[in-house]
Amino acid sequence: MDDRKHISMKLTPQRLAILEYLENNKDHPSASDIYNAISERFPTMSFATVYNTLKTLKMKDTIRELAIDPDKKRFDPDTTPHHHLICTGCGKIVDIHSEFILELAEGEKCGFEVTGNHVDFYGLCPRCKNRGEKTFHEGS
Ligand code: ZN
Ligand code: MN
Repeated sequence: MDDRKHISMKLTPQRLAILEYLENNKDHPSASDIYNAISERFPTMSFATVYNTLKTLKMKDTIRELAIDPDKKRFDPDTTPHHHLICTGCGKIVDIHSEFILELAEGEKCGFEVTGNHVDFYGLCPRCKNRGEKTFHEGS
């Protein structure tokens, strides 16, 4: 899958590196995650370059912006409809590709033609759950 040809922005080496980092990335990285991962290879690259590239990619529907954490936008290169499982401890986001039958009653639709939905599941990932249990045992 090579959508790069359809993006009408100059593919500088930095932008290419951002695209490559995002391709098939399942971590839902934030702009600073991406910056930190790539800046070693491009020491002169600014955070604004990463931020602006992400903004362009979002406009082109190449990536999806997730507003799960208001302090730290996360980015998803998988633009197919899917849901998320989110760790409230560490912010880990896992894809859920099941489909859920969620029906709004006619009276709840407010005249909308409903075209989709997105479900966020919250909980603790195994690592955070483990850590919490350890703290609990140490304290007792
Ligand atoms: Zn966690
Ligand atoms: Mn996702």
